[in-house]
Amino acid sequence: MKLNDKGLLVVISGPSGVGKGTVRKALFDMPNHNLTYSISMTTRKIRPGEKDGREYYFVSKEEFEDRIKKGLFLEHAEFVGNYYGTPLDKVNEQLEEGKEVVLEIEVNGALQVKEKVPDCVMIFIVPPSKQDLYDRLTSRGTESEEIIRQRVEKANKEFKVAPKYDYIVVNDEVSNAADRIMAIIRAEHAKTSRSIHKYYELIGENDENE
Ligand code: 5GP
Repeated sequence: MKLNDKGLLVVISGPSGVGKGTVRKALFDMPNHNLTYSISMTTRKIRPGEKDGREYYFVSKEEFEDRIKKGLFLEHAEFVGNYYGTPLDKVNEQLEEGKEVVLEIEVNGALQVKEKVPDCVMIFIVPPSKQDLYDRLTSRGTESEEIIRQRVEKANKEFKVAPKYDYIVVNDEVSNAADRIMAIIRAEHAKTSRSIHKYYELIGENDENE
């Protein structure tokens, strides 16, 4: 039984190349969860194997900028020359339905979410070492040398924002990292600040009786 009825907004973030996407997929492959992934919108080129509406909604720069003007994003950021953003309407809808909505986004966007939704759960994924991260960035194989150089530079800056997060999860093994995130989500549900109103309903008293 759940003591809070509004969904939880979970932000998975971390430096570029840390394996956020892989960890997020492993999290969704775990049994018995109620997680919903928020599909982002981007202006970057579709990669081989990706499908519009599955990994991302792929749109033109003009369309993205039009949506920014209309206030249709919960957050958005420019990342290595492309826009990425979280569509606001879907997230709101899913949270109202009591779902647990997971965003997997870069750090600037994550900090915007924290400003707008202070009770979101901010998780920072880190590599076991900096070298591990550099190796991953250079072995991806789908990007040009210039793009890789930009991503390494960006990752170095991104390491500095960890103190703004609620949790730090080391991605030593993907399945371990996913387990840790699931444990965090379960614990967050039981937090008194999230469940106290429902608790008073349950015992037939109201908050004034504290
Ligand atoms: P990629 O191009 O490799 O798919 O993603 C590049 C970066 O953009 C990753 O760090 C990814 O987490 C981030 N990202 C994906 N979707 C969003 C989003 O909606 N907003 C923000 N701020 N970053 C995103």
